Amino acid sequence: MNAAVSPLPAQSTPAAIPHYINGERVDQADGRSSPVYNPASGEQTGRLPLAEPTLVDQAVAAARAAFASWSQTPPIRRARVLFKFRQLVEDNADRLAAQLTAEHGKTHSDALGEVTRGLEVIEFACGIPHLLKGEFTENVGAQIDACSVRQPLGVVAGITPFNFPAMVPMWMFPIAIACGNCFVLKPSERDPSASLMLADWLAEAGLPPGVFNVVHGDKVAVDAILAHPDIQAVSFVGSTPIARYIYETGCRHGKRVQALGGAKNHMVVMPDADLDQAADALMGAGYGSAGERCMAISVAVAVGDATADALIERLAPQVRALKIGPGCGEVDMGPLITGAHRDKVRGYVDLGVSEGAKLVVDGREHVVSGCEDGFFLGGCLFDQVQPSMRIYQEEIFGPVLCLLRVESYEQALALINDHPYGNGVALFTRDGDAARDFVQRVQVGMVGINVPIPVPSAFHSFGGWKASLFGDHHVYGPEGVRFYTRLKAVTSRWPTSIRAGAQFVMPTGG
Ligand code: NAD
Repeated sequence: MNAAVSPLPAQSTPAAIPHYINGERVDQADGRSSPVYNPASGEQTGRLPLAEPTLVDQAVAAARAAFASWSQTPPIRRARVLFKFRQLVEDNADRLAAQLTAEHGKTHSDALGEVTRGLEVIEFACGIPHLLKGEFTENVGAQIDACSVRQPLGVVAGITPFNFPAMVPMWMFPIAIACGNCFVLKPSERDPSASLMLADWLAEAGLPPGVFNVVHGDKVAVDAILAHPDIQAVSFVGSTPIARYIYETGCRHGKRVQALGGAKNHMVVMPDADLDQAADALMGAGYGSAGERCMAISVAVAVGDATADALIERLAPQVRALKIGPGCGEVDMGPLITGAHRDKVRGYVDLGVSEGAKLVVDGREHVVSGCEDGFFLGGCLFDQVQPSMRIYQEEIFGPVLCLLRVESYEQALALINDHPYGNGVALFTRDGDAARDFVQRVQVGMVGINVPIPVPSAFHSFGGWKASLFGDHHVYGPEGVRFYTRLKAVTSRWPTSIRAGAQFVMPTGG
């Protein structure tokens, strides 16, 4: 049990959270709603309206109406709006981070990191005039020129998860709107308020009404988005079963879809690695944000028993010493998102024990003094985990690190390549040959060499392989620009000199 922390202030009546359509906050007095909690206190702080399809229609109609003029706005002017928005996000980063902590539970410093990652995507999107430059070829045929241009799609939608309520929407909409699209965001119903702060700052930066809209909801709103004839593309980030559903349903309705799913990220530790550094990396990547990151390391693969023993010896005391409490305090780790999710994660720890894994650190009974109703769970560490166990096969999404022991590098690589998920992976070693071989042969979308959480910078693109991503495009970076635009090829001739008469053969350049 931690030392007593100051009790959290009691909340008054849960506030009703509005939608945001056509530049205005829209209250929904009746209909279905869902509670929003402060996960550190367990108190309900908000009441979130859940949209019916008619409200989705309203948002899409506003976006469609805005598209005519926004898509024709010169990219440099669209970029200027984003420059101002970028400044507003930076100026208000502290407030935004505090909002993230209040509804998600992550620590303030971690929330600031989330905001910075979002800012980087806005910065990338500010370069849109350059990014949208097409290609031009003079004289593809006699006095015939050709060019390819990228044009926006129209109305596009984003459906986002609870674990990055500001960053994941910012993976999507800055690039989508920079390209000239209009956007409908359906944020997670668990921590929806950050999206409204972003909407306000976009308006303050000069974004015309209707270009960015927020509709809160659950499966009903999502299904309305997936079937809507005026939505051209859907970006999704969330768990694998829902990602697969979004991809299949959206594609069936003729939409372009990118659907990023869950993860089970491995970190291989070779006998030659700096083991202190590797243990520190495992602590941050395993327990940061209470393990609720899609790039969290949830599996440590130790090559050789000596490596495994040395890692457990370093990790166990650090896991026991984790400072756990409300994210607004000086802690390493906050609560989980809901009581139900905390119970699910705790259930996985029970399962691991019954499957025969060795629970070296048991955080199941951890209590945070003053926050007894919060959704806290202590850090848990398993040794002797086997590939056949469900705690190894399934995504747990909590502060639970599983250590597997293998005899060789090849066994470690085979484990990763046989796993259904392929989001992120890391190798810790001092051996350049092993590192190079790993980069070439590992079947995972994002690879770190002595880097535990290899989230690509905004100038690259983010995406996993296998069950971690459905669709052809990764998110943000150059792939984001490709996803939110379609290519048009134009062939032109100004026939002032050539009068060749009708041509009945296939035109060629030669
Ligand atoms: P989730 O799949 O439960 O929800 C994601 C979104 O889908 C939410 O907006 C939710 O309202 C909606 N949704 C939920 N159930 C639905 C249903 N039955 N039909 C239609 N829509 C539905 O995910 P979550 O719990 O919010 O987020 C955690 C998950 O997201 C983890 O699996 C994590 O790995 C994953 N994630 C992946 C990445 C990545 O980049 N690959 C990034 C962040 C999170």
